[in-house]
Order: sequence, then C-alpha cells, then structure tokens
Amino acid sequence: MLKKTFVVCIAVLSSLIFVISCNSIVGSTNSSELGDSTDVVAGKNTKIQKDTVKLMDILDSLNKGKIQFPPLDSINKVDPKLAKKMLRDSIYRELNKKDKHIYLTFDDGPLIGSSAIDSIITSKNIKISTFLVGKHAGMSKRLKRDFERYMNNPLVDCYNHSFSHAANKFHVFYSNPELAVADFEKCEEELGLKHKIVRMPGRNIWLYDDVRRVDLTSGSQTADLLGVNGYRIYGWDVEWKINGLTGKPVQSVEELYGRIRNMLGNKSTLKPNNIVLLMHDDMFQNKKGQQLLSNLIDSLKQHKDYKFDFIANYPIKY
Ligand SMILES: [Zn+2]
Repeated sequence: MLKKTFVVCIAVLSSLIFVISCNSIVGSTNSSELGDSTDVVAGKNTKIQKDTVKLMDILDSLNKGKIQFPPLDSINKVDPKLAKKMLRDSIYRELNKKDKHIYLTFDDGPLIGSSAIDSIITSKNIKISTFLVGKHAGMSKRLKRDFERYMNNPLVDCYNHSFSHAANKFHVFYSNPELAVADFEKCEEELGLKHKIVRMPGRNIWLYDDVRRVDLTSGSQTADLLGVNGYRIYGWDVEWKINGLTGKPVQSVEELYGRIRNMLGNKSTLKPNNIVLLMHDDMFQNKKGQQLLSNLIDSLKQHKDYKFDFIANYPIKY
C-alpha cells in the first residue's frame, strides 16, 4: 500500500516534469518571434522544473511514511501548477508532523571555549558534533585535556577537520589533493577518530551517498579524493558568528533561532527537517558567549519535536 502511494506520487511528479518540459519546448520555438519576453517564460519554466526536482528530493525523505495524497491525476491534466501545489502542501503537512533534527556542530576545537561547550551541553543533556583540528590537541596540556573530555563524553561525537587546518591557506592546501587527504588521515590517526567523517576547512562542501555540493571549486578535487577514500563530507545550512573575545554575536540568539525555525518551516535546508548549524569553539571563550549558547539551546528545546542528533546520523528520513 505504502509502496503504491509512493509510486503514484512519483508518477504524478514525473508527469508534471513532462508537462513542464513540453511547455519549455513550446516557449523556445516561439523565442525568435517574441524575443526577451519568452526568455522570461523559459526561465520561469526552468524554475518550476527545478522546484519539481527539489520536491521529488523532499518526497524522498518521506519514503517510509504513511502519506495520504490528494487525488492529483485529474487535476494534473487540467492544471499542473495547482496539482503540484496540492502535492507540495500535502508533503509539507506530513513533514511538519514529524520530528525536526538539529545538528549543532562546533569547528576548530580543541580551543579555549571547548571545555565550556562540553559543560553547557552536558548540563542541557543534548548531543553535539565537533570537528576537531589535530594539531590543536597537542598545543598545550589544557587543550589535550579538553580534547579528552570531548572524546569521553557520550553526548559529544568527534569528527575530522584536518590536522593542520590548511594553515589557513586554503587555496594552496587544496591545490594538492594528495597532500590534503594525507593531512586528514594524519588527524584521524593522531586523534584516534572512529568515524570517517570530515568537514573541510574553509569550504562548505557536502559529499555523501549521492549528494555532491561544492561551494568553491578549489576544494572539489580534494573532496572527491576523500570520497574515494571512504570519507563522508558535511557542510552546514546556517552559520552563527560571534566575536570570541568580546562575546558579541553577529546575529542575536533571537535572529538565529528565527532563522532556524524559518528554514525548517520553508524546507530550505539541504535536506528537509534536518538542519546543520555551524559554530566555532573559540566563540565561547567568555561568559557572555557561553550565556548566548545556553540561551540558544533553551530556545530550541522549547520545541518538543526538535531533536538534537549527531552528524553521523545525517540525514534522518522517515
Ligand atoms: Zn575551521
């Protein structure tokens, strides 16, 4: 029964794509007569087509769910736009009923700020993901201890953010993919990381399963080589920036919290109902910053359907 519903959905979406494609062909035939205005129509159709593909992707996250879809077949023949809207509304309604998965990720640790993060999330009893820099763990006794705190905390999952952090010269670092991959391997060995999960320094790149999203091409070869070597790479949907020394945030807690709610609501994250938030350990060096982190977690925890997950479980489907 479920399988049947899913097949019907795919059929409806496929026919929508077909109808839209036909419209595009008509648009391009007339383009010489109509000039620029047709380009607008063609552009619009491409957008609808893209939206439909995105909708199919969103539907994929519900492939195990019990979904009641409206009878779209007849509507589709008359008005594909309306049919698509009805389908989208029903998919969104289903998604809104489900849990939302929040991945709080902290980059560049261990650093001053890591021990405070460890204490705050332990007292709130929520899971976090840390992307660690290998060389930071060897910089002082204190940072070594903070790294061990992370490793021994069952609420903290530790992942790979390279050994050298590219010495902050990202373009040079990524110009030699073999050396770059060796740097990630060194981090994995030195820190004894158990997951083959990476976040690339200075790049918002996603590479896992059939997903490949690259923000800056200079990291793409390294990303592909990491993929070949069995690594999964995760970027982020939204970033929170705070001045670590002053504790002054670029976005207030309210602003960030609102953004998270909006992105989950309008399904604008990479995967619906899953949101990855990027922060950095050194943002939480002082009491002011630590209070903000605590406030953000409290705001998110008000929602009974928000669950804090490890990035190793990303993306959660239903
Ligand atoms: Zn970093």
